[in-house]
Amino acid sequence: MKDLSQLKEAMRGRKILLVGLKGSGKGNRSRDLMALGLVHIGLGMIMREQVRKDPNSELSLKVVKTTRQGELLPDDLVLPIIMDRLNQADCQEQGFVLDGFPRTKAQADWLLSRVSLDLVLYLDVPKTFLIDGIIRFNRRACVVCGSTYSDFDPPQVEGICDKCGNKLVRRKSDNLEVIKARLQSDEEQIRSFLPSFKTKRLLQTLPIIVNDDQKIDDRNLKKLKGEVYWVQTDTGDKARMLNYEGMRRRLHNLLKKKFIEV
Ligand SMILES: [Zn+2]
Repeated sequence: MKDLSQLKEAMRGRKILLVGLKGSGKGNRSRDLMALGLVHIGLGMIMREQVRKDPNSELSLKVVKTTRQGELLPDDLVLPIIMDRLNQADCQEQGFVLDGFPRTKAQADWLLSRVSLDLVLYLDVPKTFLIDGIIRFNRRACVVCGSTYSDFDPPQVEGICDKCGNKLVRRKSDNLEVIKARLQSDEEQIRSFLPSFKTKRLLQTLPIIVNDDQKIDDRNLKKLKGEVYWVQTDTGDKARMLNYEGMRRRLHNLLKKKFIEV
């Protein structure tokens, strides 16, 4: 407990960026960082906030129109909204975790020139797991609240959302080719801007895999139907993976090293 309050104290006012592919656990790590006192800022979330706050402004109408057409929002629209949100009192005082932005190198450089970030966290998850998580392990989502489940974390009652009791469905677009193509283009995007953060010494990787020689409590490992799960890594080896609790510990250790033991 003393450890945790010390960590919360050290995290106060920190500005953190979360980077990772879809399915790499950004939502979970955002929740961990929120539990340490940071404000979570997601791109979709602040866009919806903007529209709700002032639905008839020129800006809001543009946001609604562009999203309806299924297009990406242009920078001249997105950047001022993000900056405005990050400058608000809660973000300035408590600190924030920004998730889902940047998407391009230009946006990353823009962010670097305006915000003095403390840390950029890259969530490193083997691609076979991201693909398997959707295809083989039967990822399904709630039609109402959007909560996702898989065979790793199945719902209490099959087909029914634990959180709101509504129906779970598999999304139609979830076929292998579509998923692979999306992963690849997302990965290319991330690769285009990560070096900008690396040169500023802001980048730290948070891997999900556990090395062979690493002693680790069974309770912190990802399991499938009660058995420890082994994943094929991007280099072709086999490795174990951390579960939710294991990842939270790893995150806390990284933050302690970075912000306390300096
Ligand atoms: Zn639900």
